[in-house]
Amino acid sequence: MAFSPGPEAVDVLVIGAGVTGIYQLFRAREAGFSVALVEAGEGVGGTWFWNRYPGARFDSESYTYAYLFSEELFDQWEWQEHFAGQPETERYLNHVVDRFDLRRHMRFGAVVTAASWDDASGTWTVTTKDGGSVRARFLVTATGVLSVPYVPDVPGRDDFRGVQHHTGRWPAEPVDMAGRRVAVIGTSSSGVQVVAAVVDEVAALDVYQRSANWCTPLNNRPITADEQARLRADFEQLKKVLDTSIHGFHHPINDRRAFDDPPEARQAFFEEMWASPGFMKFTSNYVDILTDPAANAEWCEFIAGKIRGIVHDPGTAERLIPTDHRYGEKRPPYVAGYFEAFNRPHVTLVDLRDTPIVRITETGIETTAGERPADVIVWATGFDFGTGAMLRMGIRGRDGVALEDHWADGPVTFLGVQTSGFPNLFFPGGPHAAAGNNPRYNGDQVDFITDLLEHARAHGHDVVEVTPEAEERWTAMIDRAAAETPFGTIGQYVGGNIPGKPKRYLLNAGGRPKLFKEIARVVDTDYAAFDLSSR
Ligand SMILES: Cc1cc2nc3c(=O)[nH]c(=O)nc-3n(C[C@H](O)[C@H](O)[C@H](O)COP(=O)(O)OP(=O)(O)OC[C@H]3O[C@@H](n4cnc5c(N)ncnc54)[C@H](O)[C@@H]3O)c2cc1C
Repeated sequence: MAFSPGPEAVDVLVIGAGVTGIYQLFRAREAGFSVALVEAGEGVGGTWFWNRYPGARFDSESYTYAYLFSEELFDQWEWQEHFAGQPETERYLNHVVDRFDLRRHMRFGAVVTAASWDDASGTWTVTTKDGGSVRARFLVTATGVLSVPYVPDVPGRDDFRGVQHHTGRWPAEPVDMAGRRVAVIGTSSSGVQVVAAVVDEVAALDVYQRSANWCTPLNNRPITADEQARLRADFEQLKKVLDTSIHGFHHPINDRRAFDDPPEARQAFFEEMWASPGFMKFTSNYVDILTDPAANAEWCEFIAGKIRGIVHDPGTAERLIPTDHRYGEKRPPYVAGYFEAFNRPHVTLVDLRDTPIVRITETGIETTAGERPADVIVWATGFDFGTGAMLRMGIRGRDGVALEDHWADGPVTFLGVQTSGFPNLFFPGGPHAAAGNNPRYNGDQVDFITDLLEHARAHGHDVVEVTPEAEERWTAMIDRAAAETPFGTIGQYVGGNIPGKPKRYLLNAGGRPKLFKEIARVVDTDYAAFDLSSR
């Protein structure tokens, strides 16, 4: 449905109905602003609307990913598993939208193709693909960092006569894989989930791997009745931990270094980590696991040993052990039954370092070793991370400057929420955000933005723009922090998978502590990092 300008102008227009946009819509409306939200998809959920592929599931504990702004909401929703699958998460986000009567502000199937700032009126005009437009005082793009699927430019994709989908645009109707020959291209978080989910039903499964990843067990299980009761009883405590934790997880932080322990104790601790849920292997591991290369190598050797123990064929096992990056340099996937799948006679690992894909044919995939037939191709080839969505929306700020020009060398931001020359534009959960358990960090940004808008309104201002100095300071902090970590320059975190993309760190390398510190400073200095004015 199209908006029209004029009477339908709103105070706050949110783009994106994912976990961040829903929360921003809620907070802005509760603060008394008139609101609207436009979403490209036909439903609520963002990531959890689009990624319907078999096996799609949280790597964050469900109840730590959930909203914490209402204890009643938290009590009402009983997560079934510690790590919920996509259907449950999509249901949850729909429940939240209906529970707080947010759907009436939302327009679906509305792809934003242009957004222009008008300095005279101090408003944004946002245009959608269907020709509609809406005017808004404040524009919040909650368009996600993993919302634009990337498919490499392989010749012949359109020739394929079978079924092919990207995991990030998986259709609502289940894709029938039973008894079919399935090719999964890509072995990061999504690809490894697909492999384990479909291995039992398919006739043949070819797994096309460009580089192996440090996969460790998710260790998911149902939430027991006792645990449900404890979660409810401990809500305040859980909230306190999540609101202050560095990563936004409730995992205990380990202050021991890897070589504080003798070899046997270290081995025993790694076994504990292997058996621990999800990201604990990252967040509760030895404190120097990401900073001391020797500590990292010990952990990698432990995982390699596990892989060799699970995978029967020694050649396949070696190929499944990463050789091009250390643990943590790429986001580690969490798995259930992934390595075991390679012991099945109908599963083949195709190593693209040895035999790269030449082209897609009508009936399968041709590598330098010949053609392998396929009925279904699953493109688990990732996303245009960080800036993909924002740079595809035709955003133009003051004097018609295009965002892609302002960010030609990579994003420059303040707190990952604003960029200079683009007044009244905010982008929680965008570039320079999302370190760890996303809703916690993105929620911090939404809270900050809402407080800032309330502050401006209370002082009679309706135009808010970060100063170039504040932007420079924050971006320099990120560049510095990224350079200091041995893991700062690795492909995934700088968008290295996208040809031609400037290689600059896309997350907040300073993490949540830097965000908290800077927010406190902003508030203490009466929002001096922003120019506030009126039209
Ligand atoms: C498979 C998968 C699993 C993940 N698992 C986890 C996890 O376990 N824990 C975790 O913390 N994070 C996880 N993430 C990261 C995840 O993206 C975030 O947790 C979270 O969904 C981000 O929410 P968001 O609202 O910021 O963005 P999104 O959920 O990506 O929502 C953005 C929305 O904006 C819309 N949009 C974009 N451009 C336009 C446009 N031009 N016009 C209109 N609408 C537009 C999109 O359609 C989308 O619906 C996962 C990501 C993927 C892909």
